[in-house]
Amino acid sequence: MHRVAQRVGFLGPKVSVEKAHAVLLALLTPALDAEGLFNFHKHNYWHGQQICFFLKPNCPRCPLKGFCSYYEEHFGPATPGALAATPAAWDEAAWGKLPH
Ligand code: SF4
Repeated sequence: MHRVAQRVGFLGPKVSVEKAHAVLLALLTPALDAEGLFNFHKHNYWHGQQICFFLKPNCPRCPLKGFCSYYEEHFGPATPGALAATPAAWDEAAWGKLPH
């Protein structure tokens, strides 16, 4: 959760794990209700488990590459070709299953 939020740019590089919860809550509560916050957490967690791996994130297949700070830093701005290479449909073989 913390790793993905930092890579995408929701959290600054110096925001600690301990402070991340308060920062994200302040960022998201104007837009999301309790269920939305829970879903954000669940999907962000899943994203870190299935795509945005600790050692080698699977950026070429990632649907967030268009606005991800890490992607831009390592690959440059997402080109139309790179965005088009993102699977448009659910790809269970590559992405696994959403945890319950
Ligand atoms: S583009 Fe890469 S670093 Fe950014 S969220 Fe996706 S997998 Fe993670």
